[in-house]
Amino acid sequence: MRPATKRESKPSVGMRLGGGEALSFEKSRHGRSGVNLPEPKVAVAELIAGIPAELRRDDDILLPELSEVDVVRHFTRLSRLNASVEVHGYPLGSCTMKYNPRVHESLVRLPGFAHLHPETPEHLAQGALQLMYELGDALRIVTGLAGVTLVPAAGAHGELAGVMMIRKGLEKAGSKRDTILIPDSAHGTNPATCTVAGLKTKQIASGPEGILRADDVRQAMDDSIGGIMITNPNTLGLFETGIEEIAEIIHAAGGYVYMDGANLNALLGHARPGDFGVDALHINLHKTFSQPHGGGGPGAGPVAVSDRLKPFLPYPRIEKIKGVDGQPYYRLDRDVVDTDSIGLMREFVGNFGVFVRSYAFILRLGGKGLQQVSEKAVLNANYVRARLEKDYELCLKQPHLHEAVFTDSKQQVHHVSTIDVAKRLIDYGFHPPTVYFPLHVKNALMIEPTESESKDSLDAFCDAMLEIAREVEETPEIFHDAPYSSPVGRLDETAAARKPVLNWQMMER
Ligand SMILES: *Cc1c(COP(=O)(O)O)cnc(C)c1O
Repeated sequence: MRPATKRESKPSVGMRLGGGEALSFEKSRHGRSGVNLPEPKVAVAELIAGIPAELRRDDDILLPELSEVDVVRHFTRLSRLNASVEVHGYPLGSCTMKYNPRVHESLVRLPGFAHLHPETPEHLAQGALQLMYELGDALRIVTGLAGVTLVPAAGAHGELAGVMMIRKGLEKAGSKRDTILIPDSAHGTNPATCTVAGLKTKQIASGPEGILRADDVRQAMDDSIGGIMITNPNTLGLFETGIEEIAEIIHAAGGYVYMDGANLNALLGHARPGDFGVDALHINLHKTFSQPHGGGGPGAGPVAVSDRLKPFLPYPRIEKIKGVDGQPYYRLDRDVVDTDSIGLMREFVGNFGVFVRSYAFILRLGGKGLQQVSEKAVLNANYVRARLEKDYELCLKQPHLHEAVFTDSKQQVHHVSTIDVAKRLIDYGFHPPTVYFPLHVKNALMIEPTESESKDSLDAFCDAMLEIAREVEETPEIFHDAPYSSPVGRLDETAAARKPVLNWQMMER
């Protein structure tokens, strides 16, 4: 059945959060409070007098005044407006929005983990250190590489760590090479990372089959090229079959191969980057190894490196040694003693809860289970491709790995574009896929179902997409104002980015 094609009523002023929910500021009642604090023993005026005049604020703080139950209801109602993988399919390409099993949450909440202070002395935090050490070891085995750091906070931070190690490696060898090759299919963070790390970038086009050709890399080589940053499988969901030869070309020049490992979900248990010449790659634990993420939630971007880059790993480092009783003992080194290291990347090792979940994910599945993860993710993506390829233009015809990339050329005939299809999907109860990425595909619609989805939920998603394709032909005029069933309708995304309203008083009332 088709969802609504008209909005019942326009969201009115004071209901901008949708669903009739006013802002917490608008619900504020003077004097209402969630806690009763005892009267201070000292007069307030006296307390204020103790604060230097220039540090005192002279306006009201303007926070909403609400009771505890007001606050709980406000945020519980808002949370029910959220899209999440617990409610719908969430086929966000390149982001691997997989389900996070509930047992992970009970493990994270074990008091010994949840209440651990970051400054706990090493001998009292052996369990946590062991968990992190063993997680690093598991990632080393999965990637086939020599060393791992868990320190980077997310994928882009991992890229920074990796590229800083590459830069240090080049410098240490006395090399003048200062430029990294970046394919046109790269994630935007890749060139940004190189720039932040003080290296130059040179773009290189992928071949007509959507993969990078070794000959083009050979052509692009000159004495400035110190490495390549490549996503594998790439952003079209294709395995870079030339990677081994490309790595040989880069290595022959003394350079390094960085692999963006955000798409590791497609390779788990089937191919190890260390076996095809990769020197460094980051792993998005919050993508491949299950975490509740999105909305800026915590992540982790561990980096695995080859022998050549191992000396440059950042601090803090976790080492396993033999303790005085002959048992294994785990050390946390926060003082930078190894001068080859790129140094201390952050004060503490990382977002510990993320490590607990990913460790649990790996132990529960084991080697065979991880292999099945990638098999099922790839099967699911190809199932979606097969069901949609008649109605949506595939960007490339050949079977691919974990994601399917379409364009909107069939819908454009009816003046409906990628963004319109994505917005209409919300009315059918699905979070839209990634749109307009990768950049080298015009109006891309990039679907990554992940292994979390059953055939039933894949069918429900595909049925919705096919129904939308019918709507495009029959009633194209409904698309420009979609979605109709969400708390807010079509938003002006440019204005939202250019003129964000961050203060409720800035909203015209
Ligand atoms: C998500 C992603 C990144 C960045 O990872 P964050 O954890 O968001 O910083 C880098 N490259 C690719 C291909 C990605 O999909």
